[in-house]
Amino acid sequence: MPCIEIENLIHVYFPGTPLETPALVDINLTVEQGEFLALVGAAGSGKSTLARHFNGLLVPTAGRVRVLGGDVADRRYRRQLWRKVGLVFQFPERQIFSGTVQEDIAFGPRNMGLSGAALDERVLWAAEAVQLPEEALRADPNQISGGMRRRAAIAGVLAMRPEILVLDEPGAGLDGRTRERVLRVVKELQNTEKMTVIIITHQLEDAAAYAHRVALLKQGRLLAAGGAGDILVREELLREAGLEPPFTVELAGELSRSGVLLPQTPLTPDDTVKLLAPRLVKDNRKPGGDPC
Ligand code: ADP
Ligand code: MG
Repeated sequence: MPCIEIENLIHVYFPGTPLETPALVDINLTVEQGEFLALVGAAGSGKSTLARHFNGLLVPTAGRVRVLGGDVADRRYRRQLWRKVGLVFQFPERQIFSGTVQEDIAFGPRNMGLSGAALDERVLWAAEAVQLPEEALRADPNQISGGMRRRAAIAGVLAMRPEILVLDEPGAGLDGRTRERVLRVVKELQNTEKMTVIIITHQLEDAAAYAHRVALLKQGRLLAAGGAGDILVREELLREAGLEPPFTVELAGELSRSGVLLPQTPLTPDDTVKLLAPRLVKDNRKPGGDPC
């Protein structure tokens, strides 16, 4: 069942003024309930603009965006959307302003009307979902590590228990291990809570490791959308969009140019090992082959 339906969406910032900027051009895309979609594209391709239509922060200049059955152009419907669609902005920790991490996570659900034990329970659930240790809840948000602050910010959105979770560059500025941890937590939530997850990223390794489907933007246009395994292996298409293919895809390309053909293109390091290992073992067993 689709939870987001985008039809002929056009978005122009400041139309009719000298600052007029067409940001999205004729986008058609459907997001299915419960899926993990990666919205990818180079800087300025329109990813954040598109995502801001999902919770009604922006409305179409033309065309239609329906989210969870309602039209985002409808002002009354839009007022309910912030509870249903959680948008974690890029560098969300910059929006943390409470004295403790706990208060910060409680901000959203409190505005939704939760209080007392129900509120505490919700905050604890969200903190646990992002694997924040309990002592971090009592800390000053400015005193914890960058990775923890990012997870605290995600917890603040999760605490509203949105049906759709949109994360704008959730890995930006984090080191590799922390980035992986944040994304794993999100993937786990998508699995256990059956939440629809949309991540925005220009790092295709992240899309390859976690997303079912990929939508590729270039200069405000949807260049392609489809299964991660179909889109992310198209080196030329990705480069046309100004993106680096996942390194496993580049590696497979190099191998094929050296005469080593894998049965399919691997999307992750694990896939690469699985596809390559049997070949290496076989080659090493050849008489006269180097066993090392
Ligand atoms: P991305 O998230 O892929 O980097 P954006 O959606 O931020 O892309 O930007 C798409 C286009 O819209 C760019 O040309 C950008 O300069 C422009 N843009 C983005 N936000 C605004 C804004 N608030 N006002 C005017 N133009 C904007
Ligand atoms: Mg952006």
